Amino acid sequence: MKYFLAIIGGGPAGYTAAEKASQAGKDVVLFEQNALGGTCLNVGCIPTKSLLYGAKQYYNATHAQKYGVTAEKVQFDFAAMQKRKTIVVRKLVAGIKQRLNNEHCTVVNGFAKVLDQEPTTNDQRLTTIECNGVTYEAENLMICTGSTNFVPPIPGIKDNPAVWDSTDALAATELPKSIIIVGGGVIGLEFATLYHELGVPVTVIEAMPAILPNLDQEIVGVLADKYRKAGIQILTDTKVEAIQGNEVTIQSNPNIPNIPSTLTADKILVSVGRRANLQGLEALNDLEMYRGGIVVDEFCKTNLPNVYACGDVTGKIMLAHVASRQAEVAVGRMLKQIPLQRIAYNAVPSVVYTNPEIASVGITEAQAAELNIETEVRKLPMTYSGRFMAENEGETGLCKMLLDKKSRTILGVHMIGNPSSEIIGAASVAVRMGYTASELEQVIFPHPTVSEILHELKIEN
Ligand code: NAD
Repeated sequence: MKYFLAIIGGGPAGYTAAEKASQAGKDVVLFEQNALGGTCLNVGCIPTKSLLYGAKQYYNATHAQKYGVTAEKVQFDFAAMQKRKTIVVRKLVAGIKQRLNNEHCTVVNGFAKVLDQEPTTNDQRLTTIECNGVTYEAENLMICTGSTNFVPPIPGIKDNPAVWDSTDALAATELPKSIIIVGGGVIGLEFATLYHELGVPVTVIEAMPAILPNLDQEIVGVLADKYRKAGIQILTDTKVEAIQGNEVTIQSNPNIPNIPSTLTADKILVSVGRRANLQGLEALNDLEMYRGGIVVDEFCKTNLPNVYACGDVTGKIMLAHVASRQAEVAVGRMLKQIPLQRIAYNAVPSVVYTNPEIASVGITEAQAAELNIETEVRKLPMTYSGRFMAENEGETGLCKMLLDKKSRTILGVHMIGNPSSEIIGAASVAVRMGYTASELEQVIFPHPTVSEILHELKIEN
């Protein structure tokens, strides 16, 4: 059968595209070799957040005294947390399956391989794909194959049972007795939070001078201070030279005294980024690539006729919500929907699910300086918010807003403090719509909520 659209990969990009194109009445086939939902649902966002929520319940119960509550013999059952995580994931995967079923989208479980692209009329190309020994033809191809954990070329890392990637960590039925986390990025810090809250000694090794190097460093500093005081060892400017069994040989910054050259732990979690999955696409040898990702235009079209790519495989911003938005835009372009929509890459929110959470949207002060944009920065401690004070005893937090100095347009918002993840959406609307500070001032925020901090950050003109 000839399809209007063939999608390889059933993660947030793939299933969003499948649903949207099917809803428009098009014949769609989606290939997925594992479970629908991709990394996000199966081995990423959702399982991590399920486990983190369990850890937070335990941590809050054991730290409730500051709210006048004492709980004795608080215990956790890691296997039960894992079981609940699996059930959450299973239900969500079943939901995706149902949605695609409802739209009569054909879902094929197997590894799909592009066989060739045949020229048709008007510079169009028909793609042939093989999966489970069956061939499929499609007018349009969408590559949504995602990414996998990057394994750095560190001696002793491969085939070492002490070394985990994030998928191993999520699958473990027992907690490690201690853990060294190589890579102080988003994955590293989320797992550091999980293990620390469950009482596991944690060391984080980061090659750059700071953890979460791409985020606002004043905001990150609040987290690093709290985590160091809480007993998480954070070694920045530190390179891993080799891993042998449970021992990690490091080369640390000579300016930081008393750091041993070897560290040991029960497990070593390596989280130093992810790489695009390109297997099965070998036939598309003219596909333009940049730094390991497929190059796409503002509508997620590749350089090849009728071939689109969305999600982590584009190497742009590896976030599930970017992937699903890319898919919406790409299908809109494929269907020639007017007006054609583009992705607002300047207004992509991101969250790090540490405790407290970090959330941001738009550019940082460092990026503004690089772009020669003159900004005005407004900051408020989170303790300015009555709700924050009521619910975050002994905690600190910070919210920063960057304005274009001349136009007063909001260019970025960066915050730390719970529940930043639920507030950043409002800031994303402001950045996406190009609001000025005084336009945001006209928005009424409910009281008492921590979100009021955005309103309080207004700058009088
Ligand atoms: P990352 O790029 O966020 O962080 C990797 C870190 O490892 C960087 O800080 C880097 O400097 C450091 N590093 C690299 N090589 C190193 C080495 N040899 N030794 C020590 N440190 C080294 O990557 P990640 O944390 O692996 O996450 C992968 C992707 O998944 C990211 O794009 C991330 O945004 C995404 N993700 C998002 C969320 C979320 O939205 N909450 C959660 C998890 C993952």
